[in-house]
Amino acid sequence: MDLITQAPRGTQDVLPDSSHKWQYVEQTALAIARDFGFREIRTPVFEHTNLFQRSVGETTDVVQKEMYTFEDKGGRSITLRPEGTAGAARAVLEHGLLSGALPVKVSYVTSCYRYEKSQKGRYREFHQFGVECFGASAPQADAETISLAMQILSALGLKGVALHINSIGCPTCRAKYYAALKEYFASHVEELCGTCQGRLERNPMRILDCKSPVCHGIAADAPVMLDYLCEDCAAHFEAVKSCLSAAEIPYVLDPHIVRGLDYYTRTVFELVSEDGLVVAGGGRYDGLVEELGGAPQPGLGFGMGIERLLMVMEQTEAPFPPAPACDLYLVSMGQAAAQKCFALATSLREGGTAVECDIVGRSLKAQMKYADKLGARFTIVVGDNELETGLAQLKDMTTGETEEVSLGDLYTVLRQKLLDRELADMTDLFGSIAEFQ
Ligand code: ATP
Ligand code: MG
Repeated sequence: MDLITQAPRGTQDVLPDSSHKWQYVEQTALAIARDFGFREIRTPVFEHTNLFQRSVGETTDVVQKEMYTFEDKGGRSITLRPEGTAGAARAVLEHGLLSGALPVKVSYVTSCYRYEKSQKGRYREFHQFGVECFGASAPQADAETISLAMQILSALGLKGVALHINSIGCPTCRAKYYAALKEYFASHVEELCGTCQGRLERNPMRILDCKSPVCHGIAADAPVMLDYLCEDCAAHFEAVKSCLSAAEIPYVLDPHIVRGLDYYTRTVFELVSEDGLVVAGGGRYDGLVEELGGAPQPGLGFGMGIERLLMVMEQTEAPFPPAPACDLYLVSMGQAAAQKCFALATSLREGGTAVECDIVGRSLKAQMKYADKLGARFTIVVGDNELETGLAQLKDMTTGETEEVSLGDLYTVLRQKLLDRELADMTDLFGSIAEFQ
C-alpha cells in the first residue's frame, strides 16, 4: 500500500529552501518573453481528452501511453494537460484572439502530466515555460522564437547548451517521404516493437521518435526528411538558417530531430545540454489551428522543461540570486516590549520590509538563536530600557557592527541599509553571470 506520507511516484515537492530558484527562472523567462512581445496566458490544468488526441496526435507516445485520462462525474473524458500548446491554441481560438491583431504571442508557466517511467530529468508531473506565436509565417518568426529561447538561457548564465535544428517539411512534401520511410521500415518490420509495427501504416515518422533501443537503432539509418523537402519548405528553412546566422546564433543541423508531437511542420529545434539532456523543444505547427477547427493560421512555439533547466544550472554551477532573507528580526524582552515589537513589525512590513518578531514566547537567547537560523540581516533588541528611551541598537548580523537608532527612525535607517545591500547583491549577480558567459 502506498504511504500517505510519500508523494506519488514521479512528482517532486519544491521546498521553501529552493522555491526562490524556481521563481527566479520563471520570472526571468516571462520577463524576457515580454520584451519579445509575449504576454502571459493561463489555461486550465485539464481539458477535453479529444483536444490532445487531435493536436498531439493519436499515434504519439504521449497520447498512446502517457496521458492521465479519466471520466469526470458527468461522464466526460478529461485529460490532465501533457503539454502547453494545445490548451493555448484552444484558448486563443475560443476567445477569438486570432481575429484581432496578428501575430498573437502568448507565454506561460505550467505544470504538465505524463505517465512516464520516472527517472532523472523525467517526471510524471513536470513544469514548462512555453511560448506560442500564432499568425506569423515568415522565417523571421522561427528565428525570433529560437532567439528568445537562447536569450533566456544566456540571461540565466547557462553555458554549453547547443541549438539543434531541422525541418520536417509540410504535408505536401511528407507524402513522398512517408513512402520512402514505409519502404525502409517494411524491410525491418519483424524487428520493430509492437507499437511501431502499428505505426508503420498510420504514421511512419513516429517510429523515428521511438524510445526502444532496437527501433532507435533501425531509425538511425532511415531516410531523412531534409532530403525530401518541397521547394517552399526548403526555401523557408534556408531563410531561417540565414536569419540565425545574421543574428550570430550558432546552430547544429540535426536531421534526426522529429519531435514527439504530431502537430509540428517545417522548423523543429531542441536545446541540448553538454550531457545530452534536452532542455527545450519546439518548432512550427502550421496545421494545428485548422486541425482544431479554426481558419488556417500558422503557428510556432517551444516548451522549456523547468526541472531540466534547473538541473543543468546546478550542474554547471550557474549563479542564482541569494535566497530572500528576513531583513530584520525584532527581539523582545518582556510583555510590553513584545507588544511594541509586534506594532513595529506591522508598520515596517507595510513599508515593504521583511520583518519578524517572536510569536512563540521564547527567551531572549532563544530568539537570538532563531534570528541567526533565519539568516536575519539585522536584529534589534527591545526591552524596558529601549521602550523608555526610544533608542535601540541595530545590529548588522553579517559584520557584527551595531548602531544606535531611534525607534521612530527605524524604517528610514533600515530601508537605506537594505537598498545598499540589494545594490551590492545585484552587482554581484550580474558580475557572476557576465563572468560565466
Ligand atoms: P523527451 O524526448 O525528453 O521525452 P519530449 O519531446 O517528450 O522530450 P516535449 O514534449 O517537447 O518533450 O516537451 C518540452 C520540454 O519539456 C522537453 O524538452 C523537456 O525539457 C521537458 N519535458 C518533457 N517531458 C518531461 C518529463 N517527463 N519530465 C521533465 N521534463 C520533461
Ligand atoms: Mg517525451
